[in-house]
Amino acid sequence: MIAGNWKMNGVGASLGEAYMIAGGLGDTTARVAICPPATLVQRLAEVLADSAVLVGGQDCRPEASGAFTGDVSAEQLADAGARLVVLGHSERRAGYGETDELVAHKVEAALRAGLEPIICVGETLEQRRGGQALAVVTGQVRGSLPDALKGKAFCVAYEPVWAIGTGLTPTTPEIEEVHRAIRETLVAMFGEAGRGVAILYGGSVKASNAAEILKADEVGGALVGGASLKAADFLGIIQAA
Ligand code: PEP
Repeated sequence: MIAGNWKMNGVGASLGEAYMIAGGLGDTTARVAICPPATLVQRLAEVLADSAVLVGGQDCRPEASGAFTGDVSAEQLADAGARLVVLGHSERRAGYGETDELVAHKVEAALRAGLEPIICVGETLEQRRGGQALAVVTGQVRGSLPDALKGKAFCVAYEPVWAIGTGLTPTTPEIEEVHRAIRETLVAMFGEAGRGVAILYGGSVKASNAAEILKADEVGGALVGGASLKAADFLGIIQAA
């Protein structure tokens, strides 16, 4: 899975980039997704209707509907054409105080609406320097993944907070150490089914480092921010997969 997170970027004119991404997939075997801002989900789903590129949301509220000004529900995303949703991104955990418990409720909402969740986890630089990276990340996996995921399709994205949008990336052994710990946690939680869950890496992935990151042990794809905004950059990552 190579998923692009456009964050709060993109207007109607950006749909052309998505169109070029769809047209440039070539013979990739990777699943490819673009998660635009909510304003573009429906238009992107229409543009990509005849392509293999999936459309996803970037967040959803646990409730299906109601008096929640400014929020979007999983059902609304699905209705607009989304097939996936990114949940628990560190920008939401840090900026909106999202807890593991809230993320788990959002995951349940995504499943209720038939969306495949991509659940993000990752440590801060302070936590890594304090030797807590594995404990933090596996704790987030345990707390953010509800039992309802048993038998369902989902991905986990390991995104070290300090690597997002900074140009910094962990070393390959550092990525592998965390991905192996996530895998062990998934197997402990979901049994053998936990071996089939794709664990994506995210944090300053670009065409020039994608091949090395994607061949690392237990890396099953990438969640890409900045480098998913331009077709040429994103296609370079897809081609490395
Ligand atoms: C992200 O926000 O999910 C991300 C990985 O961003 P970037 O690729 O820009 O570091």
